[in-house]
Amino acid sequence: MILQGIAASPGVAVGPVLRLEPEVFAVRETEIEASLLEAEITSFKGALEASRRDLTAIRDGIAAELGEDEARIYDAHLMILDDPDMIQAVERGVRDRHRNAAWVFAGVMSSVAARFENLADEYLRERRSDILDCERRVLRHLLGADRRTLGDLSEPMVIVAHDLGPSEVAMLPRGKVLAFVLEVGGRTSHGAIVARGRGIPAVVSVKGALQSVHSGDRAAVDGFAGTVEVNPDEARATFYRRRLEKLRLQAGALQAMMAQPAETLDGRRIELGANLELPSDAPMALEAGADGIGLFRTEFFYLNRVDLPSEEEQYQAYRGVCESMAGKPVIFRTMDLGGDKVASYLGMTHETNPFLGLRGIRLALASPEMFRTQIRAIYRASAHGRVRMMFPMVSSVEELARALELRDSVLADLAREGIAHDPTVETGIMIETPSAVWMADALAKHSAFFSIGSNDLIQYTLAMDRDNERLAHLYEPLDPAVLRSIDHTVKAAHAAGRWVGVCGEMAGDPHTAALLVGLGVDELSVSCYDLPRVKAALRSVRHDTLRALAQEALACPSAAPVRALVRERVDAMMPSYLAIDRERSSKPGANDAATS
Ligand code: PEP
Ligand code: MG
Repeated sequence: MILQGIAASPGVAVGPVLRLEPEVFAVRETEIEASLLEAEITSFKGALEASRRDLTAIRDGIAAELGEDEARIYDAHLMILDDPDMIQAVERGVRDRHRNAAWVFAGVMSSVAARFENLADEYLRERRSDILDCERRVLRHLLGADRRTLGDLSEPMVIVAHDLGPSEVAMLPRGKVLAFVLEVGGRTSHGAIVARGRGIPAVVSVKGALQSVHSGDRAAVDGFAGTVEVNPDEARATFYRRRLEKLRLQAGALQAMMAQPAETLDGRRIELGANLELPSDAPMALEAGADGIGLFRTEFFYLNRVDLPSEEEQYQAYRGVCESMAGKPVIFRTMDLGGDKVASYLGMTHETNPFLGLRGIRLALASPEMFRTQIRAIYRASAHGRVRMMFPMVSSVEELARALELRDSVLADLAREGIAHDPTVETGIMIETPSAVWMADALAKHSAFFSIGSNDLIQYTLAMDRDNERLAHLYEPLDPAVLRSIDHTVKAAHAAGRWVGVCGEMAGDPHTAALLVGLGVDELSVSCYDLPRVKAALRSVRHDTLRALAQEALACPSAAPVRALVRERVDAMMPSYLAIDRERSSKPGANDAATS
């Protein structure tokens, strides 16, 4: 039986299953005598304090292991515990209604969680699990329950659970947990973020996972395809063993290529950068053999916290990335908040279509002081490395002009104040909207470079929500409408003497990356995981062949013939170990090259 979920953290693992039953505390309503009310409140405060101590210890452990940014999740949990409204509501409930603290507390927390449950915004919805995580922690202390613990696993296992709070994922003993499978959650849930940071394969949103697996079962988890196969038969077990072996061989072959440039057989050099979300991951980009950072998504800096990051805090973080990259270029994408990335302290109001709303540069221009602070921090960091800056979601020349005006006034301030910075930082824009594609010639006059954000460009060009699981099969990078948009952008940029990159997920597929190079793209920026594979792919192809192929693709009437073209012609040039990416666990024998 193969269960399908959402691929949350890459990797493949096969092993015995450990079902983690949902931790449900039976909290009964009990009347408390008047003389014991204060003692009840004291014990509630004691449980809060003990939970704070747990969380601080976890937080510090994560900060040491993964860095301050990942640890910030736990600051959010600490804030939930410190919320004066919550504490007051519990105290009042105990005193006025003479009820036990655990029962009152559980009631208060469920009403907070319920408010998040039905939100349209996926990111905010995921915050519900943070609240439940905190609730369980406090109840555990209040009721004196044993911790649900994985520390004493006798052998490495695949964990299957309804949900795991981020603190639980953070505590998973790395050598003992092969992978985990959750019934709920999305790509942006904190559990998934922590799993990726810790290198544990994970599949989430697997409906009915706990009903489908039993103790004693074995499971094969494919964190690339988002599949979980329960009790694979001998043939399928062999398939996974081969897949694991290929991954190991691939890692070895790719490692050997780390220091080589991303250059085609006929000498076309492509700048191959890494995408980064967290400053602490910069060393991973170097280890993967990146030429630089092609996309630093700075908005993650603004999330999971309660107030704006200061200029100094941002400067230190950006400077750290520049220093880690030791002179290699770093493109800081200014805050791309809005859409699915919502910072509640900014007072963002509900929008019916957040991806078409106050997002990216629109939101930045609507909050000029916040935007200025970030640009200042980026410029200050430029004194410590090779910095480039780009604006996301630009949809008109006027918008770009306003952003550049703001940048110029920041530059003038820095010069007047005598603050060290590099005044020649190149400023570019992301091409993510159809309007930017069609105005690319005009935009190129004011941009040092373009970076095509294909994740958004696809969704806006095809009118397909990038996060909607029900449209996932239609969200098609190889649609000729997308390819023609890229072609138009590249031509406009080159005519103005500007270079063009692609930094969306599309660039991370080796076969599609080759097609992008055929379309004339000069730079690609991909995840650290994809980077060595894309480099290997580009080193095995000829640019002239790709150019001819791209012309054929542009003439295709739909995505299917493009996919066939790529499957036949690009695949023939690729090293055999890249075939691993085309093996879909969910479809034995399927060989869907370009969309893997
Ligand atoms: C994109 O849209 O392709 C992109 C790189 O930006 P993000 O995924 O952060 O929206
Ligand atoms: Mg984007």
